[in-house]
Amino acid sequence: MLGHNRHVASERLFDRAKSVMPGGTTRFTIQRNPVPIYMSAGEGAWLTDVDGSQYLDFNNNYTTLIHGHAFTPVVEAVERQLHSGTCFANPTEHEIALSEILCSRAPSAERVRYVNTGTEAVMFALKAARAITGRTKVAKLEGAYHGAYDWAEISENSNPDNWGEREPVSVPFAKGTPASVLEEVVVLPFNDIDTTADLLERHAAELACLLIDLVPSRAGLIPLESDYVDAIRDITKRHGILLISDEVLNFRQGYHGVSARFGLQPDLITLGKIIGGGLPIGAVAGSSELMAIFDNSNSDAPLPQGGTFSANPLSMVAGIASMEALDPAAFERLERLGNRIHVSLSEAINQRGLPIAITGLGSLFRVHFKARPPRTNREFWPTPMEANLLRRMARSMLVKGVIMPPMSCSSLSTAMTDSDIDFFLTAFAEFLDEDDDLRCWAQQAAEE
Ligand code: PMP
Repeated sequence: MLGHNRHVASERLFDRAKSVMPGGTTRFTIQRNPVPIYMSAGEGAWLTDVDGSQYLDFNNNYTTLIHGHAFTPVVEAVERQLHSGTCFANPTEHEIALSEILCSRAPSAERVRYVNTGTEAVMFALKAARAITGRTKVAKLEGAYHGAYDWAEISENSNPDNWGEREPVSVPFAKGTPASVLEEVVVLPFNDIDTTADLLERHAAELACLLIDLVPSRAGLIPLESDYVDAIRDITKRHGILLISDEVLNFRQGYHGVSARFGLQPDLITLGKIIGGGLPIGAVAGSSELMAIFDNSNSDAPLPQGGTFSANPLSMVAGIASMEALDPAAFERLERLGNRIHVSLSEAINQRGLPIAITGLGSLFRVHFKARPPRTNREFWPTPMEANLLRRMARSMLVKGVIMPPMSCSSLSTAMTDSDIDFFLTAFAEFLDEDDDLRCWAQQAAEE
């Protein structure tokens, strides 16, 4: 049974959940339609919910499951490891094997340290930058998401009422963020070379690092422009500011990762999601010289970093299985399916003369209810009307049996076939033809 509107079993579970978890969930990203849809199983590109409905999954746990659900090599590797123990206070050979894969692929990675989430990876990369440079400030791009470390969260969801003029204001994400953190984070305007250069140069003596995501998903999934990337690499190098490329989400942009795709040589990279094959993981990587900050062979460990579950063998073996299956042919196929989506969506939109734009790269895409693709996070910012259309789109697609996250990017998996893509495109075309709010909004936009 394909996605439908009745979620009786999910409603029952959500009622139970509300009495034991705040708001009934444990992730603020859980969609309510109007209740969260509880899943019972996933296989390949498809999910089955507790009411027995099936969905083609373009969320893939926010881009993590690059091979889709229950990928056989991962299942088998984890099953084998389960019988030999799930975690030890000692290292295993698996962490060496995964590091060898990562170092052989990402040009900037000579040494790797593992943690359990992308949030931790970013946190340790920022701490490393501070310890290496002896400076404390961090620069980041307005609107970019990098996980839940206070410094990395600043201005991730600022809006026209609080983001200021040309030079972005540091806006807290979480209530209770200390003012001292706001003062330590320099927020840079996306794809604006002049203002970015001014700000970086003004704060250079205090800046430990610049944290970027080359295709920031929550800032519109807009690739950073190559002039901008060149400019920030040049300025950071001149001033001894470490450039950290957060590849937690975008390492999937090619066999050698996203920095290599952009011709960028960052100082440190952060990894997560796909490198754990669907189990929790995070990693910091960089040159042997910079990563020596984590080396505690001598008693004066410059930057202590540990974690009860860091490099746990389950995540390591799942990561190895996931990465080994991601050979150049797998990336080529993902790229082809991604291009097909980009081209076919644009055709469907243009045929109907609708002011809708698509952004993204490779196997990731995002829909914008805007006449032109946004160039910056400020152009991307969805008005309340546009946000309403995004939610309507996600709901309409869900009823047709497709899961698309409304407020972040959609992602493909190697489990998807051309007929899955056909299924998606048919559902999307139906949404474009059926939605009354969309029609009214498009008419209004045409008259303006
Ligand atoms: N950095 C980026 C670019 C991310 O997309 C994410 C997660 N979506 C994170 C960091 C945080 O990763 P995690 O959810 O594993 O903590």
